[in-house]
Amino acid sequence: MSTGKINVTADNIFPIIKKFLYSDHEIFLRELVSNAVDATQKLKTLTRIGESDATLGDTTIQVKVDKKKKTLTIRDRGVGMTTDEVDKYINQLAFSGAEEFVKKYEDKAEGADIIGHFGLGFYSSFMVAKKVEIFSLSHVSGSKAAYWSCEGDPEFTLEETTKKKDRGTDIVLHLNKDADEFLEEARISELLKKYCRFLPVPIQFGEKEITETQGEGGDKKETKKKVPDIVNVTNPAWTKAPADLKDEDYKEFYKQLYPYTFEDPLFHIHLNVDYPFNLNGILFFPRIKPNMELQKNKIQLYQNQVFVTDNLEGIVPDFLTLLHGVIDSKDIPLNVSRSYLQADGAVKKISNHITKKVADKLNSIFKKDREDFEAKWNDIKVIIEYGMLSDDKFFEKAQKFALYQNVQEQHFTFDEYKDKIKDQQTDKDGNLIVLYAANKDGQHSFIKKAENKGYDVLLLDSPIVSHLMQKLEGEHDKVKFARVDSDSIDKLIKKDDEVVSKLSDEQKEKLKPIIEENIEKEKFTVQMESLDSSESPFTVTVPEFMRRMKEMSMTGGGGMMGMGDMPDMYNLVVNTNHPLVSKILDEKDGEKQKQMVTEAKNLALLSQNLLHGEALTNFVENQFNRL
Ligand code: ADP
Ligand code: MG
Repeated sequence: MSTGKINVTADNIFPIIKKFLYSDHEIFLRELVSNAVDATQKLKTLTRIGESDATLGDTTIQVKVDKKKKTLTIRDRGVGMTTDEVDKYINQLAFSGAEEFVKKYEDKAEGADIIGHFGLGFYSSFMVAKKVEIFSLSHVSGSKAAYWSCEGDPEFTLEETTKKKDRGTDIVLHLNKDADEFLEEARISELLKKYCRFLPVPIQFGEKEITETQGEGGDKKETKKKVPDIVNVTNPAWTKAPADLKDEDYKEFYKQLYPYTFEDPLFHIHLNVDYPFNLNGILFFPRIKPNMELQKNKIQLYQNQVFVTDNLEGIVPDFLTLLHGVIDSKDIPLNVSRSYLQADGAVKKISNHITKKVADKLNSIFKKDREDFEAKWNDIKVIIEYGMLSDDKFFEKAQKFALYQNVQEQHFTFDEYKDKIKDQQTDKDGNLIVLYAANKDGQHSFIKKAENKGYDVLLLDSPIVSHLMQKLEGEHDKVKFARVDSDSIDKLIKKDDEVVSKLSDEQKEKLKPIIEENIEKEKFTVQMESLDSSESPFTVTVPEFMRRMKEMSMTGGGGMMGMGDMPDMYNLVVNTNHPLVSKILDEKDGEKQKQMVTEAKNLALLSQNLLHGEALTNFVENQFNRL
């Protein structure tokens, strides 16, 4: 038997371990189980290449709770360790890694970030245990079993033992009083599901009862039987080659990942890279409705099938965090803080690669089956539009497949659309005016006016669309977006053939104050226009610039913060060619004139669903009284 001090730097390590005690201490289980997996995989490799005579046998890893003794045991049938190896790997090497860690993070205040990702490995068990024991028997024939124990200080015991008869390692944790949650089966079960669900070696936690049926018809016999409860799927879909998987397999895997989701994903992207970095994974496009609350923590990050995190902020571009699925990479450094991770070169490369892959896949689906792509468009557009705004490379690629839908529900790429409207909707200054509506019903009268002129109207209703328009206007020369209700249609697309005004300038000057006196001045700007006599006498519009600024300030960005609070301002467009307008001008009775202006304005508001409250009540009452 030997006793000793683990090594000087160990003095530093235990206080650190204990400091983390109140944070993410549950990760100890992930560390110990993944060590057990490593040991098992090592033995499998050794026997395969003929370096070990051991008979593999059943290599299921066991996790056991003993409530009476207050212990938690992790048992594997892997390579095992001799006393020399325990000394080397546990007493010395384990700390050299930890020492680095201590040096690196000692003075940093980002403790909270590190936790959960720091690589204390085996020693993380001291976050929850007052004493840890190792019983281990090496696979090398003729080895003597090793026993090691330590009580959370630099003193340890290491000796040979006869207590361990089977090959492999038992790690026995004597849990702290305040860690007795880890004696609860439900808690351990939850943690195993979280961290170990896709580990490559079967992990057993307890037993479960199954019902077996034998015989048929009247002879049918049902017997209940207890079998090991295996918590994990050892060969998840992402570890297989895409060629070996069918559509159903992907859907099945989606259900394994999200047992509580009932909807199938729209499509998947299988990532499979060996060079220049290692990356496997499957990403799913979920259905995302424009007004749905966006969920960001759905993608899970694994390192060699060990769950690391589902917070991928900074690891993949923000817009892709709306996807679902799994990313697994050996090359993502885990033993570091998140800010370090975000700055890491490998992580950046991986992030770029994923973005590119997603764009390529979308493009190939678009090319292969445009009809299907169009059918899915409404469910995926939020992610794609978000991506186009936040990533220039993605924007470029997405130009090929991003779709714009018009009010007739036809889909176009932007280039196709420009082509479609260029003859009709180029104004006298050579600008191409893209007309759009945000709401088909709400802006119905304006859509109609545009269509009567032979113009086409897009339906743009996603939340970030004003940002996207801004971007498209920047990228495409002489393209301007205008919402159909932002001005009279002839003003939106100005052509040379201006309609002559029936009213002289003098008459207009006389009319303006008459109207202004009879409306709320702070709300409306009166705008005299000579439009077609078939156009409405009064139209209420919201200037494009105003509305867009307001929308953008509400969805963030554009340096327009605070404008969302601005009061609503309207233009009141008065069509000087409409007979009613001449009638108002010619009316001698001041009372009657006032009434005409008010009612015409109210009708204009009403046609746009802008007449509310008392104004609406009074208006309706007046109409009744007239009947
Ligand atoms: P890491 O796993 O990163 O090497 P750990 O602190 O988790 O660091 O483990 C230290 C070393 O202890 C391992 O590299 C391994 O050699 C040894 N070890 C730990 N657990 C086991 C086990 N269950 N079976 C065999 N060896 C183990
Ligand atoms: Mg480890």
